[in-house]
Amino acid sequence: MSLLELTAYEAGEKLKSREISSKELTGAYLDRIEQIDGTIRAYLKVLPEKAMEMAEAADKKLASGENITPLTGIPIALKDLICTKGITTTCGSAMLAGFVPPYNATVYENLESAGAVLLGKTNMDEFAMGSSTENSAFFPTTNPWDTTRVPGGSSGGSAAVIAAKEALLSLGSDTGGSIRQPAAFCGITGLKPTYGSVSRYGLIAFASSLDQIGPMARDAKDTALIFDIISGHDPKDSTSVSYEKPVYGEIVKNPQIKGLKIGYPVNFFGEGLDPGINECLQNAKATLESLGAEFVEVELSTIGYALPAYYIIAPSEASSNLARYDGSRYGLRVEGCSDIVEMYKKSRRKGFGKEVIRRIMTGTYALSSGYYDAYYLKAQKVRTLIKQDFEKAFEKCDVIFTPTTPAPAFKIGEKTDDPISMYLSDIYTVSVNLAGLPGISAPCGFPDNLPAGMQLIGKAFDEATLLKTAAAYQTVTDFHKKMPK
Ligand code: GLN
Repeated sequence: MSLLELTAYEAGEKLKSREISSKELTGAYLDRIEQIDGTIRAYLKVLPEKAMEMAEAADKKLASGENITPLTGIPIALKDLICTKGITTTCGSAMLAGFVPPYNATVYENLESAGAVLLGKTNMDEFAMGSSTENSAFFPTTNPWDTTRVPGGSSGGSAAVIAAKEALLSLGSDTGGSIRQPAAFCGITGLKPTYGSVSRYGLIAFASSLDQIGPMARDAKDTALIFDIISGHDPKDSTSVSYEKPVYGEIVKNPQIKGLKIGYPVNFFGEGLDPGINECLQNAKATLESLGAEFVEVELSTIGYALPAYYIIAPSEASSNLARYDGSRYGLRVEGCSDIVEMYKKSRRKGFGKEVIRRIMTGTYALSSGYYDAYYLKAQKVRTLIKQDFEKAFEKCDVIFTPTTPAPAFKIGEKTDDPISMYLSDIYTVSVNLAGLPGISAPCGFPDNLPAGMQLIGKAFDEATLLKTAAAYQTVTDFHKKMPK
């Protein structure tokens, strides 16, 4: 069996028993990147020397038997908006093209102390705004299942590296769907955790009331392993919550879902959903039922307002967060300007791409006096209604079952001139961020030879039930094991 076939869980077992070394495993991944990333273009930066050093350190730990975690020696990749000390962190933007953070994000700090090996930083839509990774200021990433198609976004690089076996685990971020949508497009498993369950210290901000870092992996079991390491309270992030968390890696070992109540929002399965994807979802529903789960109909009637509310709230927060990039502190500066206003204008015009500028303009407009009540405040009220809708639905069930995306991965270039149709790829995911809930996407079939994803939405801080349900499904299906040619 090739080293690349092993899941993170399996590789971890072999590392622990010293059947393989982290240097061998890391070397195999670096070779794979060398061989294939010219086509996939998932990495913005590969760190061969650093990775081999970290692998050597992990091998020493494994030899001594001290401080070993399930991730010791496991090669991982990080979306390029997670700050890494001494390593460029661009956020997919020309604005931050040469930015070298002086500190580490907490998630990376945790992974580093767990002994994980950093292979590199992955491509993304600029400032995480997008659904296809075509908004990267550098180059688009391709979908490993069909390189004429997009991998989804904004965490497209982090999804593609898993599908193309260019990393064992990765981290993405999800503001409106950016972990789950690319996970669905690339046939992998991706978890958007509850707002507040993972530290965002060192995450470059897009929309602070929605952003969340989360894991991407081959299956739910691997997802649980990395979630164990990154979740939990961080005193450096005032929005992170202290809560009692189980060992997720244990919960997925022998997953049982007999008696689980799964909510089925009928209106998510109507018009606009690709028939091939719907067929896969109906089969997945039957599989979950055969495992002992019981489906109950729930109503999420505000869903139709989720996308409009999101596209007011997220740009509003972005317009405020991105005000810091003005050429005066860090990031790109256009030189030779006659005064500071000209320097601001020229630096921002040159540093930001089209979509980012569109969002800043929308957000600034929605927040301006005279429009604030009509747009921003209204959107916040809608957000409360959506949250209440979920609360009501969860009186009847433990998790909610929906599609992740309305259609499979689209062609590169297909939606670049039509922002609204691009925004629609997040129709099933954004409400989860607005409500602050956790959601997982897992592969459930291959209509037209492209991956389809099912989404499970959970109660706040109940990632355990999501991981358990996805893991149970994966014990009797093998969609998550299929890999692109
Ligand atoms: N596609 C959505 C957007 O463009 C969500 C992005 C995200 O989750 N980061 O805003």
